[in-house]
Amino acid sequence: MNFTLLFPNFKKRAVTFSYDDGVVQDKELTEIFRKHGMRGTFNLNSLKSGSVKKRIDKDGVEIDCSHLFLTGNRDVYRGMEVACHTANHPHLEELGYEEQFVEYNEDIENLRGIYGKNVVGGAYPYGTYNAMTLEVLRKLGLHYMRTTRSTYAFHRPFNWLLWNPTIHHRDPRLKETVDRFLKCNAELPILYIWGHAYEFAIDHNFDLMDELCARLEKEEDLYKGTNEEIYGYCKAAELVYSRDGAFINPSDKDVYLLGEDGKQYCVKAKERLVYDDGK
Ligand SMILES: [Zn+2]
Repeated sequence: MNFTLLFPNFKKRAVTFSYDDGVVQDKELTEIFRKHGMRGTFNLNSLKSGSVKKRIDKDGVEIDCSHLFLTGNRDVYRGMEVACHTANHPHLEELGYEEQFVEYNEDIENLRGIYGKNVVGGAYPYGTYNAMTLEVLRKLGLHYMRTTRSTYAFHRPFNWLLWNPTIHHRDPRLKETVDRFLKCNAELPILYIWGHAYEFAIDHNFDLMDELCARLEKEEDLYKGTNEEIYGYCKAAELVYSRDGAFINPSDKDVYLLGEDGKQYCVKAKERLVYDDGK
């Protein structure tokens, strides 16, 4: 029987967030995410921890956009995914293989030390990279890496190490894109929003994210996952097939789907599920 894949708990669509650099405004942003049940991924530069940075808002007022002192603020990322963004935020394409390797490896090791969890993905600093960067990421066994190129689309990436997001939250097309996503009937559509939390301080618009999350929270058919949760689920779901009157799930995760008979099925990890095809 043919079928359409669904997200966990039979949700038709998924939303995820990705915020970079580990800045003091992550405190407020993660509070908004937690308040509305959203899950985000935070890409941190471990050797920038605590470094002071000021930015100017549109009225010329100086705003503190410093990097968060990570070891003193472990709790900020409670319920979120911590991911890598290189130790020092360099332009990777200007570095050799070994230097790129050290930038990623050191960040991963430091973050694992601070948060006690494996780091399996992240984002490219400045959104730049070269072929060597991809070799480094494969060598380190990373699952996914986010670019800065908006697609305004909801499909899964062709290459998870070049995961193009849907849209930046500052983009004037944000509302139109969210509207379109909530009507999207493709298989496993993902709304992927990215940015930097300090932008909300400079633009004085944390309410933009609060209102967006409040709207998404009301959507019944929406799975909220970190980048890694979405990656892991999609990789598992893609393995499922149908044969001899059963759905077969060779993956290590339960997979949810909608059969062409209109019924919903949950195929348990490593199991086969016999369906009634009416014959
Ligand atoms: Zn960055």
